[in-house]
Amino acid sequence: MFFGPRRFWGDNPFKSSYEAVIIGGGVHGLATAYYLARDHGLTDVAVIERRYIGYGGAGRNTAIVRANQRTPENVRLYSEGLKLWPELIDELDFNLMFFDCGNLNLAHSEAGMGAFRLQVATAQFMGVRSELLDAKQCQELVPLLDISDRPKYPILGGMYHPPGGTVRHDAVVWGLARGAWARGVHIHQQTEVTGIDTADGRVTGVRTTRGNIRTPKVLIATGAYGAQTARLVGIRLPIQVLTIQAMVSQPLKPFLHHVVSSGTYHCYCHQSLKGELVTGAHMDPWPNYTTQVTAEYLKHQAEALTDLMPALKSLKFMRIWSGLADMTPDMAPIIDGNDPVEGLYLDCGWGYFGFKSGPITGRYLARFMVEECCPDILQPFSLKRYRENRLMGEISTPPNYGPWN
Ligand SMILES: Cc1cc2nc3c(=O)[nH]c(=O)nc-3n(C[C@H](O)[C@H](O)[C@H](O)COP(=O)(O)OP(=O)(O)OC[C@H]3O[C@@H](n4cnc5c(N)ncnc54)[C@H](O)[C@@H]3O)c2cc1C
Repeated sequence: MFFGPRRFWGDNPFKSSYEAVIIGGGVHGLATAYYLARDHGLTDVAVIERRYIGYGGAGRNTAIVRANQRTPENVRLYSEGLKLWPELIDELDFNLMFFDCGNLNLAHSEAGMGAFRLQVATAQFMGVRSELLDAKQCQELVPLLDISDRPKYPILGGMYHPPGGTVRHDAVVWGLARGAWARGVHIHQQTEVTGIDTADGRVTGVRTTRGNIRTPKVLIATGAYGAQTARLVGIRLPIQVLTIQAMVSQPLKPFLHHVVSSGTYHCYCHQSLKGELVTGAHMDPWPNYTTQVTAEYLKHQAEALTDLMPALKSLKFMRIWSGLADMTPDMAPIIDGNDPVEGLYLDCGWGYFGFKSGPITGRYLARFMVEECCPDILQPFSLKRYRENRLMGEISTPPNYGPWN
């Protein structure tokens, strides 16, 4: 007997009112919906997705997770996020393929080493494992690294963060969607939010391509489209959108047991559990919303990888794709609520950090939306930090990208 593929979540009627509407079926929207239902019993929730869940960055990222950010506020959130994966695998009963192989960031200048020193000190102060390595120690971790004077930017040392690694991104999307739907959340795909209604400074509903929905609570979790969605209610966000490309190679026998990255080369890579080399980081340096791929990226990536690891010279790439990164001027997200519109919540500006932080942010945002009081851990990310000139300093990490630098 033939058993067709089993869908993880089913269809629900499109209702004209919900207690909460989440715009965007990415990792952040789905995680918030899941925790609203799981932790707060708020199940009269709709996730509205204009294409299909995981269409945005959630399904396009290179799956790297880590907690060695630059500022204590970020380290705290990402560190809780990192510890959440094993718990989530258990409770979702879904193999998210969490692989804590460790992350190695390379430095190619004294300035780079200095920046790592600061970053390691912050991590250690926050109780997160991170250490400075010299070039030889880097090569002991990754034997293919060329630590001679030959590369364009010789390797001086690195920052090693053992608890980081990778998680299967599609599995996270599917697992959260299944978990949310099983608890009563409605997931409406192929439905675009085209307007957000307010009255007397409060959210009253959303307009969609399938009809209007009345609701007192709306979360904007539209990834790269966060600034556009916020503009529907007259809120301007300091976000620039850049294309970020990635690719995977033919599968190889296991040879790379850590995530390796270099801000100087604008390049990172890791070997997937299937054996492919997954590589990315290069961003088109001008703001745009295209998801095309470019020959310039292929050339850049090939040069960077083979300069760092000459043994990769004959490696064949199988697939290349791109997605969008919503960059804020301080490379930290914007998480806010009830300001200036009551009942409206923002979860935007994650740039290329938003996968690793999805489930943990969703857990705290769900609490924020129900208790209407911003949890301590999310407070540093408020939108008003820009008005108050309280930028977060995350940009001082060595690998920083954006039209500003
Ligand atoms: C190539 C690449 C590599 C990356 N690598 C990493 C990495 O290794 N680690 C990491 O932590 N992060 C990484 N990121 C970043 C990460 O993918 C994003 O920050 C993250 O996916 C953001 O999640 P999200 O749920 O906020 O948004 P998304 O996953 O983008 O979801 C937003 C959804 O909203 C939908 N939407 C938009 N507008 C509307 C509307 N009006 N109505 C209804 N739906 C709408 C979109 O279709 C989309 O599905 C990478 C990104 C890219 C592109």
